[in-house]
Amino acid sequence: MPPSPLHHFAAALPKVELHVHLEGAILPATVLELARRHALPLPAQDEAGLRQWYRFTNFRHFIDVYLALQNLLRTPEDFDLITYDFGREMARQHIHYAEVTFTPFTHLWQDKGLTPDDIIAGLEAGRQRAQTEFGVAIAWVIDIPRNLSFRDGVYTGAASDPTVEMALAWRDRGVVALGLGGNEVGAPPEPFAHAFAAARAGGLHSAPHAGETVGPESVWGSLRALGAERIGHGVRSSEDPALVAHLIEQQIPLEINPTSNLCLGVYADYAAHPLRRLWDLGAYVTVNSDDPPLFNTTLNQEYGVLIDQFGFGPAELEQISLNALRASFLPPARKAALEEDFRRQFAQLRQMFLGEGR
Ligand SMILES: [Zn+2]
Repeated sequence: MPPSPLHHFAAALPKVELHVHLEGAILPATVLELARRHALPLPAQDEAGLRQWYRFTNFRHFIDVYLALQNLLRTPEDFDLITYDFGREMARQHIHYAEVTFTPFTHLWQDKGLTPDDIIAGLEAGRQRAQTEFGVAIAWVIDIPRNLSFRDGVYTGAASDPTVEMALAWRDRGVVALGLGGNEVGAPPEPFAHAFAAARAGGLHSAPHAGETVGPESVWGSLRALGAERIGHGVRSSEDPALVAHLIEQQIPLEINPTSNLCLGVYADYAAHPLRRLWDLGAYVTVNSDDPPLFNTTLNQEYGVLIDQFGFGPAELEQISLNALRASFLPPARKAALEEDFRRQFAQLRQMFLGEGR
């Protein structure tokens, strides 16, 4: 199906993204370059081969691919490169601001000789270059890899404390929140309460993943034990009407990633996905790309999914954009200024693509 005027309108809309992983956003060409740079083997030698490797059979395979990508990042320059690349991709898709998840602990745990200072130096260099050259703003959600905090089913906190320490130390270099990622199975939120309490006491926001690989109890636990202000994914909340009612009443933003959910087998197809139902009920929905090249998607394509699969029109697409902006952790004055700018652009884009307001 060729793109319609509405698709062009959606692609041109000014946007904010709240749920995307830096290491999961490395473009295939850059993956190959990093492998060459460090003479590291990959299971594929070209972009087509990489895409084949990305065909996930289960969450375990996904984590294996993810760890292999992380293993390619070995110097401050690597982190600078992928952040700068990410900024270019943001500008291309009219994403003005992104809160990007990054998992420093795994880079230290992989024993590559990297220090926390190396990592943040690279991230900060890339963030500044992206801002200067592309006019986009990046903030960080530093996340705890939940599975590395358990051994034999017992919480050890191994990944929690160092992650919180880095997140707090990097507050002046764009860190706005603490996250919690990985496979929820066998790694419930409650033991991480102390980590999130420390982060919140230090002025960071709480944005854990929940309700992706485990159902409603993971979301309830994140709200109650972690003070979650947004839920990463949260789609499986739809299995519990009381939870859905609570999320609607409190207007807790859900960072929904439709194509990611299909690729990782959370839902069989878009028809089974609860996005539209949650939206119609009045839940606070945002739409995001999660790990775009790994799922062969982009944020713009996810807006296309809203049109093609969920029947969204222009006003709803604008609302999705504003929902992300308002649910961001930007300071209120910055949000208000951006919203004014976004609204001005919406009107122009409607006229340009949809022939309105002439
Ligand atoms: Zn995620």
